[in-house]
Amino acid sequence: MLEGKLALVAGVANRRSIAWGIAQALHEAGARLAFTYQGERLERDVRKLAESVGSDVVVPCDVRDDADLDRAFADVASGLGGLDLMVHSIAFAQAHDLQGRFVDTAREDFWLELDVSCYSLTAMARRAEPLMKERGGGSIVTLTYLGGERAVPRYNVMGVAKAALDASVRYLAADLGSSDIRVNAVSAGPVRTLAARSIPGFTTMEEIVQERSPLKRNVDASDVAGGAVYLLGAPNVTGTTLYVDAGYHAMGM
Ligand code: NAP
Repeated sequence: MLEGKLALVAGVANRRSIAWGIAQALHEAGARLAFTYQGERLERDVRKLAESVGSDVVVPCDVRDDADLDRAFADVASGLGGLDLMVHSIAFAQAHDLQGRFVDTAREDFWLELDVSCYSLTAMARRAEPLMKERGGGSIVTLTYLGGERAVPRYNVMGVAKAALDASVRYLAADLGSSDIRVNAVSAGPVRTLAARSIPGFTTMEEIVQERSPLKRNVDASDVAGGAVYLLGAPNVTGTTLYVDAGYHAMGM
């Protein structure tokens, strides 16, 4: 279904990244890929990973910077020759905000974390829209977590960012539907990645999912990627969240 589709994947930091799992699945489904990464320290690794899926469109992009976003989308569009699909797999929270109490979050930290983890989806969707429109439509997927719907210990400001991200998915879907652009989210269970390791008590999150989820197991990046690829290709699904969490979200206790 995705054969020949032109896809931007944002948020690969290393081979453990959920974005990398999605990139591999998109490659297997026949898509042509471009990557954005943040900061020079990641360039070599992301380039190497990109090469392994036949991509040489690898451009820097710090989502906090509008000029950087403009340049990155121009480079991606010219490198790929257009854009059909976009994967937003980006989040950031400072370690101290994942340790104490949410109530103590400072104003400037709150805005930084919401900017990177939530507003970036809207900033990227706005730049993707004209490119996807030119191709007759498109599809966008972001990554969310149950901590946006329920208070998960220590997830704190990231939970608030995910709640705003979930709402953004619905408003973006409403805005972009008339251009046949779909916007959805995958709500992933805990997956061992760089970002996840910065959440104190991450191992406890995994243990609880293993013990209490209907399927009594954890998921990995390839499971999450399967959900993302489904959403990217599903012609009549938009504004929704697909849970890839071994069913944990369905449980009351
Ligand atoms: P990851 O590999 O660390 O990916 C997070 C990505 O966000 C990194 O590539 C990171 O780059 C990038 N990023 C941070 N600040 C940025 C900025 N200003 N500009 C551009 N990129 C920036 O971790 P991950 O677990 O795969 O996370 C991907 C997404 O999945 C996140 O939205 C996360 O909340 C979500 N998610 C993860 C889990 C889980 O358990 N792992 C569960 C549910 C949802 P740097 O490394 O340079 O900061």
